[in-house]
Amino acid sequence: MPEEMKPVFENDPMPFFCGSANACFTACCRDLNQALTPYDILRMKNSLGIDSGTFLRRYTSRHFGPDSGLPVVSFKPDPAFGHACPFVTETGCSVYHDRPGSCRMYPLARAISRSRESGKIREYFALIEEEHCMGFGKNTGLTVRQWLDSQAVDLHNHYNDQLIALISLKNRMMPGKLAGGHADLFYKALYDLDTFKTQIFEQDLLAPNVLPGLVVEKIRDRDEALFELGIQWVKYQIFGIEMTWS
Ligand code: SF4
Ligand code: SF4
Repeated sequence: MPEEMKPVFENDPMPFFCGSANACFTACCRDLNQALTPYDILRMKNSLGIDSGTFLRRYTSRHFGPDSGLPVVSFKPDPAFGHACPFVTETGCSVYHDRPGSCRMYPLARAISRSRESGKIREYFALIEEEHCMGFGKNTGLTVRQWLDSQAVDLHNHYNDQLIALISLKNRMMPGKLAGGHADLFYKALYDLDTFKTQIFEQDLLAPNVLPGLVVEKIRDRDEALFELGIQWVKYQIFGIEMTWS
């Protein structure tokens, strides 16, 4: 349980350092209960050079939220290693360059609000001080913003915010539990991107929508484009919102 959540601002000093010099090094990776976002999975499966179905089967477990019906994907506990992350090693994280957004953000919590007029996102941060973590009280000379930049977390936030917007839309338009077929569709289009892609190209999944050639090229080459198409596909299938191309 967090001991303290203290609001911080981007120009505040960031009194935190994580590294192998800390006696707690990797302790936080050995007792996980960590939800993964579609973009987390996209980055890690590509880092490992495997497809999304293999990644999901090998490393994750899934359940559906009892109230929302939305898929919740987390690292799967391994009987041999308990709740340790499958990627933790004695020398640190074996997927460090592509680690999940929550690993990058810790010990900051982030919340956002979105302007109704401009769609612009405003970020709010709080520092979570937990007893087991010995990274606090170390002066790095960095501000909160500089520390966030050092974690390269902006891309994760960019794609995770699209998921948050989709979930907000669902909560507004369809409060309560998502039906089973819709929940499966949500999972496939956002979390299991390689299966989604195969079904687009081999089974004409998106019919009657016809993808412009430029979009076809983009989704063949870039999983990020495929994810954004998945968001549109979910909106079209579940809420009847027309797909648009840019
Ligand atoms: S417990 Fe804190 S300082 Fe220690 S490795 Fe984890 S994040 Fe870093
Ligand atoms: S992905 Fe890396 S940083 Fe995140 S919990 Fe696993 S080992 Fe730790």
